[in-house]
Amino acid sequence: MKRVSLKVKLTILYTFFTLLVTCIALAILFSLSSKEMLAGTQERLKQRVQRSTEDITMSGDAMKIDSDFYSVTGDVYLALYDENMFFLYGKNPYGFNTKPELSDGQMRRIREGNEEWYVYDLVFRLDESNTVIIRGVTSITEAEKSFAVTLRFAMILFPAMVLATALMGYRFTRRTLFPVKKMTDTVEEIRADADLSRRIGLKDGKQGDEIYILAKTFDGMLEELEEVFEREKQFTSDVSHELRTPISVILAQCGACLEDDTLTERQRAQILLIEKKAKDMSELIAHLLFLSRADQGRQPLRKEWINVSELTQMTAEEQQILADEQGREIRICWQTGEDICASVDETLYIRMLVNLISNAVAYGKEKGTVTVELTEKNEQVIGTVRDDGIGICAEDLPKIWTRFYRADSSRSGENHSGLGLSMVKWIVEAHGGWIRAESTPGEGSVFIFGLPKGSPDESADEREEKHQDSIG
Ligand code: ADP
Repeated sequence: MKRVSLKVKLTILYTFFTLLVTCIALAILFSLSSKEMLAGTQERLKQRVQRSTEDITMSGDAMKIDSDFYSVTGDVYLALYDENMFFLYGKNPYGFNTKPELSDGQMRRIREGNEEWYVYDLVFRLDESNTVIIRGVTSITEAEKSFAVTLRFAMILFPAMVLATALMGYRFTRRTLFPVKKMTDTVEEIRADADLSRRIGLKDGKQGDEIYILAKTFDGMLEELEEVFEREKQFTSDVSHELRTPISVILAQCGACLEDDTLTERQRAQILLIEKKAKDMSELIAHLLFLSRADQGRQPLRKEWINVSELTQMTAEEQQILADEQGREIRICWQTGEDICASVDETLYIRMLVNLISNAVAYGKEKGTVTVELTEKNEQVIGTVRDDGIGICAEDLPKIWTRFYRADSSRSGENHSGLGLSMVKWIVEAHGGWIRAESTPGEGSVFIFGLPKGSPDESADEREEKHQDSIG
């Protein structure tokens, strides 16, 4: 299921509660308003009827009615009746045809068809002998209609308001959670580029905000981590440098001892063993120095326009000789496209191939075959080194590029440090290329790399730059 982001979750929650509260508020408001509206209509009717008494006077024997009585004010219709409910004057609203019984001072609700009316009668004694009945009628339906318009208006406004609330809520949450996104992005970038120098770096405007403090703490932690890693890199570099001299002395002394003819067979074997171990150590130190230079950005890349087909064949041939010398019965074959050229650093390219082929030999099966292929495709040089050896299990496959990782240390032997593939990866990526491994345990592995071909001009430019640097 797709992960719902915190922004969306908070917006939904926020909108839901705003919606709930607004709905309840509106329902209460409308029910109160509806009651209020009906009470107001009744009050208006009552007052109009009571005030209309002022419009009726006796002048001698004749009854005089002011013209105001006839006019309809506030939707209230007035009609005048005698004591027998005989219509004398005034008017009734259209559609009000019933003649309800007299009911003095009583507010009545009368339904006629689809319409409802409030009817209010008032018995008014003009003098000793003259009594009239004033009847006020007003339509409830009309009053409700105008109220319904307000309700409809509110109903139209309501979704718009919900939408506006959701949008505002979303914007607000996005702004609030922005530092969290920045933190995630920074961690992702650090993971992708292994670059601990990156910082979240929130601007100083949001001081006091908890997330801002978290981001600051995070930056502080990154600062410390970077320092620790820098110290560790420096330590590796220093130790490797320091170890180089004693190893060279041991190797030189071994060479000198081996020239001594008086050595017994046993002594010679012991010195040869010391020499071999010293050579392994020297190689490990060289690898460590290479990687620490690469980490510190001090490993130069000297690209030249080179015939990589020839270089690949040459390296494969050398590795065949080495494998023969080691007594390995393995055949190294190569199929390289003719005269493929690319802009690469020759030393590093050889180092990369040596690592891949020597691994294929080391982990290949006896009497097996190692195949080295080189083709060009889409401005890329594609190389593969295939063996039919022990293979690598799926669980180990992603880890083989990690420094000092050895999938099967019992098979890799003592002179395998687990640094080779880290170097290979660095070399390929420094050239702007890629590398991947595929393997079936028990059947063999294949390492496929792609390097951008580049152009002769690019290499020439680099040479020119280097020349300028050297004379500068
Ligand atoms: P190492 O010096 O141990 O060979 P690498 O970095 O070159 O170090 O390789 C890391 C690990 O990957 C090795 O220890 C081995 O387990 C595995 N590996 C590398 N190449 C192959 C291969 N061709 N076949 C099987 N396993 C391999």
